[in-house]
Amino acid sequence: MTVTLITGANKGLGFETAKQLLELGHTVYVGARDVERGEKAAATLGARFVQLDVTDDASVRDALASIESAEDRLDVLVNNAGILGVGPVDGPTALRVFDTNVVGIVRVTEAALPLLRKSSNPTVVTVSSSMGSFWAVTNPDRPEFNLSATLYSASKSAATMLTVQYAKSQPGIKFNAIEPGYTATDMMAAIGGGRPAAESAKTIVGLATLGPDGPTGTFQDELGTLGW
Ligand code: NAP
Repeated sequence: MTVTLITGANKGLGFETAKQLLELGHTVYVGARDVERGEKAAATLGARFVQLDVTDDASVRDALASIESAEDRLDVLVNNAGILGVGPVDGPTALRVFDTNVVGIVRVTEAALPLLRKSSNPTVVTVSSSMGSFWAVTNPDRPEFNLSATLYSASKSAATMLTVQYAKSQPGIKFNAIEPGYTATDMMAAIGGGRPAAESAKTIVGLATLGPDGPTGTFQDELGTLGW
């Protein structure tokens, strides 16, 4: 049985990814910062729940400790939790966005590494964004060229770079970043549009179910490799 932890899985892309991985037979831990929302989502899915706020060291440590005591290993980690960070571009907002979208990945990944090393096929998927791609935001042919989300974009560039650096420093573990596709979740509600989360989750599931010889250190969308 593949043991999988997904952060921010109480709704949106995380929830749909959990659903599809459960259908594939994974034991899925729904990580959520809010106990009520997380327990409700886990019950709906038939998954397990761990309280996990990616901005809280103690919460992250306790979440991984409870998975360790129940499973003694972790096969798949999906770093999915994220915020758009609407509001002014200022120090407090920047700290909030980076704390969640960047430092959160470091907290969870560092806490998960000892458990991932016990897996025979350890895989980490980071849900990044093409808004963090220098190639996309400087390419007039891409939609990202005309979109402005200063702090979110910068945080996703960092999330992708963390993925590449972890892939280099942890050769026994696959680390890949993904742009899931523009999706109609609460995050994008103010902008509108987007495809169903179930469709985008398929691309996350693809990277979460790589075999032992799968790639590492990549940045992909559903069509394949994305420019950095
Ligand atoms: P969403 O529906 O707003 O879901 C975001 C999830 O992250 C929620 O479960 C939220 O929990 C959780 N979260 C936020 N802060 C957290 C924290 N401190 N600790 C733990 N969980 C936290 O948005 P989504 O579209 O599914 O986003 C999922 C990921 O996809 C994000 O990383 C996002 O940047 C990325 N992404 C989305 C799109 C898109 O088009 N939707 C495109 C590219 C990338 P609460 O319910 O408690 O707030």
